[in-house]
Amino acid sequence: MTDRFQDECGVVGIYGAEEASNLAYLALHSLQHRGQEGAGIVTSDGERLRAHRGLGLVGEVFDQGILTRLTGNAAIGHNRYSTAGESSLRNVQPFVVRARLDQVAVAHNGNLTNAHGVRYELEARGSIFASSSDTECILHLVATSNRTTFINRLVDALSQVQGAFSLVLLTPDQLVAVRDPHGFRPLVLGRRGSATILASETCALDIIGGEYLREVEPGEMVIVDKQGLTSISPFPRRPRHACVFEHIYFSRPNSVTFGRSVYDSRHKVGRLLATVDPVDADIVVPVPDSGTPAALGYSFQSGVPFQQGLIRSHYVGRTFIEPSQQIRDFGVKLKLSPVREIIEGRRLVVVDDSIVRGTTSRKIVRMLREAGALEVHVRIASPPIIGSCYYGVDTPTREELIANRHEPENISDYLGADSLAHISLEALKEHFVDGEETWCDGCFSGDYPIAPEPDAPEHQLSLFEAEA
Ligand code: SF4
Repeated sequence: MTDRFQDECGVVGIYGAEEASNLAYLALHSLQHRGQEGAGIVTSDGERLRAHRGLGLVGEVFDQGILTRLTGNAAIGHNRYSTAGESSLRNVQPFVVRARLDQVAVAHNGNLTNAHGVRYELEARGSIFASSSDTECILHLVATSNRTTFINRLVDALSQVQGAFSLVLLTPDQLVAVRDPHGFRPLVLGRRGSATILASETCALDIIGGEYLREVEPGEMVIVDKQGLTSISPFPRRPRHACVFEHIYFSRPNSVTFGRSVYDSRHKVGRLLATVDPVDADIVVPVPDSGTPAALGYSFQSGVPFQQGLIRSHYVGRTFIEPSQQIRDFGVKLKLSPVREIIEGRRLVVVDDSIVRGTTSRKIVRMLREAGALEVHVRIASPPIIGSCYYGVDTPTREELIANRHEPENISDYLGADSLAHISLEALKEHFVDGEETWCDGCFSGDYPIAPEPDAPEHQLSLFEAEA
């Protein structure tokens, strides 16, 4: 069930709260969907930073004793997604270093598109890297900047990198949050009483009783310290390119991302799908959980009843014991089970958020037919994916994407479906583009706002694997 784009990380920052580590812990819980390989929290008591990082889910990495030792009224936290090859503790964030006289911790959601070149130049000047993460480039650039204050060194460093960065940084006396000028990845600002909260998504504010104030704007740097909150815009303006896939799949449906309700977006796309690609069917079945809001929208618009014909298991760990005897579609069956009483003898519209390689969709169709479905019509709440992402999302290579492996008219046959339809790129744009607003849709259109380095690997997290 890894036939999905995978988001790479969630971040949180808290300033001016008692028990900041406990709040960061809860916020990371609510951002667990953005990364499950490792987690970390760094706190400040005003004089020094304390850190704990580990591999695993948030609940596995921390216990009450660890959180009690992470003292202070300020904290940053990070959830990391990584591929198997890069699942090592040295890459778990926040990174903590002493950069000249500044002790600083950093947590990053995104991907630097010129990281290869930057690292090469830094190493040529004597920098020694301790991780295989692009994020470390930022710390080396801060350390080698000749500006006088930490904020100026940070601005200098970030002016030399390109790509996607939603960052939170902590020094003993400052919390800093910054978003790249294109604003690829989300970052929101909120408050809880007198405390300032920054997080990848608003669901992290909800869980700690925080109030959503606004997005951190593309290109904005927010600095929080004893004097209060300061906002600066130190980078040249660029057109906004918020990731449209956050609304299709990555963000939680109860979040407000890029100023819009994610649930509303998915429901609306489902309604559009029903208008453009109606089907004579008996029931609408979502692929849970990410296909559910779009399926509800499809059902609402078409009048075809919504039924939970697939049940998702929420108790599948990240590792499991393979059966000695091969069971067909074992991986999918671990996570999804068909409800025969609902499916048998019925014509289904099956709604999912996206198709990546197509292998999982194919298994789901087969599973539904084995449970007695008369017809299976697949409706996808995103356009066909034709390219990789270079801005902080783990994606297969272009060659692995089903839209590049089969002619469009053959994909339905490959899946074993009676019909297949996607929401078109034009319809998606019509929904999302509002006045001057622009979005990144590079993986659907091939139109990338920042060109990747010529030799950049498509698989981002293996960025420095060879050298590491
Ligand atoms: Fe999002 Fe796709 Fe753009 Fe990556 S390429 S930022 S996944 S829309």
